[in-house]
Amino acid sequence: MKGKRVLITGAAGFLGSHLCDRFIKEGAHVIGMDNLITGDLRNIEHLFKLENFEFYHHDVSKFVHVPGDLHYILHFASPASPIDYLKIPIQTLKVGSLGTHNLLGLAKAKNARILVASTSEVYGDPMVHPQNEDYWGNVNPVGPRGVYDEAKRFQEAMTMAYHTYHQVETRIVRIFNTYGPRMRLNDGRVLPAFIGQALRGEDLTAFGDGSQTRSFCYVDDLIEGIYRLLLSDCATPVNIGNPSEISINDFAQEIIKLTGTNQKVIYKPLPMDDPKQRQPDITKARSILGWEPKINREEGLKITYNYFKSLPEERLFEEPHGRHFTKKN
Ligand code: UDP
Repeated sequence: MKGKRVLITGAAGFLGSHLCDRFIKEGAHVIGMDNLITGDLRNIEHLFKLENFEFYHHDVSKFVHVPGDLHYILHFASPASPIDYLKIPIQTLKVGSLGTHNLLGLAKAKNARILVASTSEVYGDPMVHPQNEDYWGNVNPVGPRGVYDEAKRFQEAMTMAYHTYHQVETRIVRIFNTYGPRMRLNDGRVLPAFIGQALRGEDLTAFGDGSQTRSFCYVDDLIEGIYRLLLSDCATPVNIGNPSEISINDFAQEIIKLTGTNQKVIYKPLPMDDPKQRQPDITKARSILGWEPKINREEGLKITYNYFKSLPEERLFEEPHGRHFTKKN
């Protein structure tokens, strides 16, 4: 990776910022790009002093220009939580579709290899369990999640088309629920929601009856899988995630134990089209990439909790997009 020039979109986001760190560590010259709608410069401020890092404040839904050579592009710009899709649905559609088109065009022009971030949401509310890459999914195109799911499905189609018709070197990672330091505390995702609630002394809000399941992957494992996929020769989609599945109720109990909070679990209505179960089948990643997750939930949750605890207290009360919770006295 030494001497390679790598463009990372969504660089100030949760996954983008960890990717920047990884490629810097591998000796690459990293060009980070973000429009900062959901990204946060605090995630990458430690990189600005480095000579092999530069940052462009740019929206990739508009034409993307990067001077000089490019060897790799990692397209990670996108809102990625249900609260975000509801607040900024059009931008979510545009970054997955127009943004992907622009970056594929850039990859073609620069003769660069591109890896795009897809998602387990392409499987929708799955009828096959666990989900393997051959499953086509069960997605409601006009529901609240449709703006994300369909943008990502279009992204996959567009990426394969550039691979097939323009011989662009493309990679597609289907990312399952991932957690770790630098998640936005109040973006509505279940892990930061529960930890934030515990730290603020609020009850934990489980949606529906809490029997729905997810499988949570620690961020370092995910980044390793993505790095290996980029360097592999596999152009078809690959699931990266941790198959260890847990119900939201049991997850809430794990967070209660971890944080020592004396709050209880309360129940709120289940959001529309909320998938009932989700678990990655990672047979393909195991055989093609020799990859599997190494960090179990207990270990990963501890690191993540310590990160959230170390933040200045006012960050606990920040809402996404600049609004604030009322502080409880
Ligand atoms: N969830 C919950 N309480 C919350 C936030 C989320 O019970 O405060 C549930 C949500 O309904 C879903 C699961 O946790 O079933 C994971 O939600 P998240 O938004 O983290 O990810 P996704 O639904 O995209 O997998």
